[in-house]
Amino acid sequence: MHTDQMTVASVQPQHKNNKLLRDIFYEETAAEYHQAVEKARAAVEDFLLNTRQPFTGVRPPVMQEAVYGVDLSRPLAGYDELLAEVNELYVRHATAFHLPQYIAHLNCPVVIPALAAEVIISAINSSQDTYDQSAGGTFIERRLIDWTAHEIGYTKADGVFTGGGSQSNLMGLLLARDHFAMQLLGHNIKLDGLPAQASRFRIFVSDKAHFSNDKNASLLGLGEQAIVRVKTDSRFRMDAAALKEALDWQLGLGNIPIAVVATAGTTDFGNIDPLQSIAALAAEYQVWMHVDAAYGCGLLLSAKYRHLLNGIEQADSVTIDYHKSFFQPISSSAFLVKDKATLQLVRHHADYLNPAEQDYEELPAQINKSITQSTRRFDALKLWCTLRLMGKQKLGIYTDMMIDTAAGTAALLQQDPEFELLSSSDLGVLVFRFRPVAIDTDLSALNLRIKQSLFFDGTYILASTKVEGNFYLKFTILNPLTTLSHIREILAAVKAKGYSLL
Ligand SMILES: *Cc1c(COP(=O)(O)O)cnc(C)c1O
Repeated sequence: MHTDQMTVASVQPQHKNNKLLRDIFYEETAAEYHQAVEKARAAVEDFLLNTRQPFTGVRPPVMQEAVYGVDLSRPLAGYDELLAEVNELYVRHATAFHLPQYIAHLNCPVVIPALAAEVIISAINSSQDTYDQSAGGTFIERRLIDWTAHEIGYTKADGVFTGGGSQSNLMGLLLARDHFAMQLLGHNIKLDGLPAQASRFRIFVSDKAHFSNDKNASLLGLGEQAIVRVKTDSRFRMDAAALKEALDWQLGLGNIPIAVVATAGTTDFGNIDPLQSIAALAAEYQVWMHVDAAYGCGLLLSAKYRHLLNGIEQADSVTIDYHKSFFQPISSSAFLVKDKATLQLVRHHADYLNPAEQDYEELPAQINKSITQSTRRFDALKLWCTLRLMGKQKLGIYTDMMIDTAAGTAALLQQDPEFELLSSSDLGVLVFRFRPVAIDTDLSALNLRIKQSLFFDGTYILASTKVEGNFYLKFTILNPLTTLSHIREILAAVKAKGYSLL
C-alpha cells in the first residue's frame, strides 16, 4: 500500500516552481507547513508565558473596529505579518481558561496530549462519516464509545461523537420521540412526520435543566410547550416525588409523557438529579430516560466520587461532554444509547455515501449513527491520545481535586458573614453573592456591577445566574490548578470591588 502510494506520487507532475500552489498542504510544501506551524506554536507559547490576567478587558467597540478595520481584499506578505495580526485581533484578547482567575463557565483547561492530537487531526483532516474517509479513525471512535459505555455500565450500547452537549441532548430527545411513536403508536416519524398526538407529547426536565432541552423540543416540532419543568429540592436537584406528581398531572390532562431528562451535574449548581428514583419512575411510566451528563461525566473516572452517578446505567441514552469534564479542547462530545438497536431509528441511506445494500458489519460507516453532521472531525483522536498517555486514573484525580477545592470554597463562603452561599455542589459550581453586613443596598445591582467591573478590569472572570429573580455570582471550578489560596484571593477581590462600588 505504502509503496503503491509512492509510485503514484513519483509520476505526478512536479509543481516546484509554481508559486500559485505553495499554500496547499502536499509533499512539496512540507517546509512551508513546518514553518507555519512552528510560528503558530511560538504564538501560543507566547500567550502561555506572558498572559498574567484572564482577559485584557478590551471593550466590544474597540474589538469590532480592529476586526472590521482589516482589508480582506489585501492578503498579507507572510506568516510573520499574519501571526502578528492574529495576535492583535484574537490571541492577545483571548480569555485564558487555564488561569485560576478565570472561574466563570464550564471551560476546562486542556491537556497537552490532546493538543498534540489536534495538530494531527487538522492536518490529516479525516472525515468520520465513512470507512473510505477514515479507516483507523472509524475504529478509534468506536473503541472510545465502547470504553465510555463500559464506564457508564452499559453492555449492548452504541453511540457517536458529536459537536457538543446540546447536539447530544437533541439526539436523546429525537430517539425518545421516534421510539415512542414507533413502539406505542406504530407510527414512523422519520418517514411520515409527526403524528396527530405529537402536540400532546410531554418531556419532563427539572427547573434547573439546561436550556438546550427547550430549544431541542422546539427543533423536534413539539414546541417548548412540550417541556414540563419539575420542581427541585433544596439543592436544586429534581424532586422525584414532584416528578411523579407531574407525570400524573399531565396524564390527567390527557397529555402523553414520552421522556424524562435527568441532569447529572446542573450547569448552575453542579448537582446531580436522583438518577435511581428517576429511572424507577421512567420504567413505571414507560418513558425514555435521558441523562444529560454533559458536565457530570467527569465523575465516571473518579475512584472517589463515581458513586454519585449510580443509576446512570439505567438510562436509555446519555450525553457526555469530554470538552467540559475530560480536559479536552472544543469540540469533543458524545451521545450514547443503552440499546444499540435504537440508534437505527436515525439511519438514512444516501446512494453515494452509505447505500442501503452495503454490509456495515464488513464496511462500517459512522454516518449511520449521526443525525446532525455528515462531514465530521476526527475529534476522538484527542481523547485517545489523552487516555493512552495519561490513563483514566489521572483524569479521575483531576476531577477529585476540583471537587475538593469546591468543597473548601463552599466552607470559606459559609464561614464569611459577608457572603451568602445558596447550595453546596456535587461538582464545582457555587452560586453566592456579596452581602455587606449592616448596609442596605440593592444586592442584585451591586453583585452585577462587581462581576462586570472585574471583567473589564481583566483581573477576574466570574459567572452569574438568577435564582428567583435575584442576581447571584457563580464560580465554576473546573481547574485542578486552582487552589484555596487562589479562591481566597478572588473572594478578597470580590469584597474589595464590592466596597469600592458601594
Ligand atoms: C454545557 C451543557 C450542555 C450543552 O453542551 P454544549 O457542549 O455546550 O453544547 C448541556 N447540558 C448541560 C448540563 C451543560 O452544562
